[in-house]
Amino acid sequence: MSEKSLIPEAVGERRIWLRVGTLLNGVTTTPLKNANIVYNREGILFVGGPESSPPANLLGVGQTAPDAELPDYTLLPGLIEAHAHLFLEGGELNLDKRAAYIKQTPAELLAAAMPRLEKLVRIGVTAVRDAGDRDGVGLALSKLYAGDWRPLMPYLDSPGAAIHHKGRYGSFMGEPIEDCASLRACVEKRVNAGADRIKLIPTGIINFKKGAVTTDPQMTAMEVTELVAAAKSFNRQTFAHASGDAGIENAVEGGVDSVEHGFFVREDQLARMRDRGIAWVPTFTPVQKQVDHADLMGWDAEIVGNLKKILDQHAASLVKGHQMGVQIIAGSDAGSVGVAHGYGFLYELELMERAGMPSLAVINAATGASSSRLGFQEKFGKLEPDYLSRFILTKNSPLNGVTNLRKDKLVIFDGKLFDSQENANAQGM
Ligand SMILES: [Zn+2]
Repeated sequence: MSEKSLIPEAVGERRIWLRVGTLLNGVTTTPLKNANIVYNREGILFVGGPESSPPANLLGVGQTAPDAELPDYTLLPGLIEAHAHLFLEGGELNLDKRAAYIKQTPAELLAAAMPRLEKLVRIGVTAVRDAGDRDGVGLALSKLYAGDWRPLMPYLDSPGAAIHHKGRYGSFMGEPIEDCASLRACVEKRVNAGADRIKLIPTGIINFKKGAVTTDPQMTAMEVTELVAAAKSFNRQTFAHASGDAGIENAVEGGVDSVEHGFFVREDQLARMRDRGIAWVPTFTPVQKQVDHADLMGWDAEIVGNLKKILDQHAASLVKGHQMGVQIIAGSDAGSVGVAHGYGFLYELELMERAGMPSLAVINAATGASSSRLGFQEKFGKLEPDYLSRFILTKNSPLNGVTNLRKDKLVIFDGKLFDSQENANAQGM
């Protein structure tokens, strides 16, 4: 039986009143039991506990009972993927095929990205912060979302081309500073192209063979500071690809809004991130995938040992950071080798939980924390009045393990119902 028969759709002026066994609002660390929620297609009108029935003026005329009693179900906000490269197909493990894929024209890359959008919604990912590409794919999708007509797709915003230094890591997703007259001109160029935020690449990546970041930082703290100031003057947030403590230092001292990846982050850096409100998006998945597919990647036992050590250290830092009060935000780096869009994000949540973060904290990192910190243009990611009607309804409570989010669920998007099992496959993701 399709779960769609559980509840009515919120179409037209229709208001829906549900009573659910468990409600996770995306923020609090205590689930709300036997909760009431009222919403229409535009947004949430009311959320309350068992003692607080919704006021009559928020309900349909003459309505005195919920449209559905769902004591066995959990309701939570739609998930926010905070780090994905929509222009790449992440599930593809064949490195030759990946190299050929990325050589396609921007129009071809955009066409290949389009079918991912509806699938993401059905997986339960109702918002994506694209993490950049130089072919305008993310920007085109962001404009599609903001346009008058849009297909079934998650909220989506993008930085367009990331900012990096010529000859250093990042050319496949960015454009060099050296192409601009100044750092500020670089930021202005992105803003004029439609960038919703500014992506910086102050470091290279982990050298998997050596198990360390072996290159020097690619931006100084001064450069980051100047880029952040320019972005702020255009009212844009900044997010920094940064691994290795030397480069993380420059990102933190430069005052970015979030550190992406953050492998090898030090405890004193986590403390400053907490104190300055700099969020951390730890992206376990791309490194874990190198371990999962070590044979295909050509890694021997020693290299796999290095990778596992890095992941263990990262897991310990995540738990420490969470306990210290650092704002942790979930993002998978989908599009990286082996990291399929949507499915890779669900895996990321599992890895955060496996690292030792409580299930509910992981859910909050994938919903309310993102919503609060990342300055999205719309209100989603929390079950509170005035937030959009984009939820997940499931009989398989993610509080018993976030892997339950992989199971059958109903996705409610602007009041409409979507079954997660229809059109669900990793093809092209
Ligand atoms: Zn990335």
